[in-house]
Amino acid sequence: MRSIDELNRMMPERRKAEIAAMRSRCPCPKCPTYTECARERDEKMFCFYGRSPDCVSRELKCICPKCPVHTEFGFKGLHYCTRGGERTSPKRF
Ligand code: SF4
Ligand code: SF4
Repeated sequence: MRSIDELNRMMPERRKAEIAAMRSRCPCPKCPTYTECARERDEKMFCFYGRSPDCVSRELKCICPKCPVHTEFGFKGLHYCTRGGERTSPKRF
């Protein structure tokens, strides 16, 4: 299982690349809850970055449990786009 600590121990460049790779694997844009507004702003990986400031308010299905990032980090939450990030996550990257 991976951890946020492991990410934080990486050199900045490596960490940035790692986060970009995770972001590219986030399936939020395929989720029924995801919105056109979020797509236009390229918002995703809400588990790390926290809730969408303005773009998502209605909770439909959440596909986070099928996401590789969710599994790798042992996350427990759902609907990060409306409820905020996983509690173990830092506020910012
Ligand atoms: S956080 Fe969950 S509910 Fe929100 S867009 Fe991503 S998969 Fe869907
Ligand atoms: S756990 Fe959810 S918000 Fe986080 S990367 Fe996966 S699909 Fe995106």
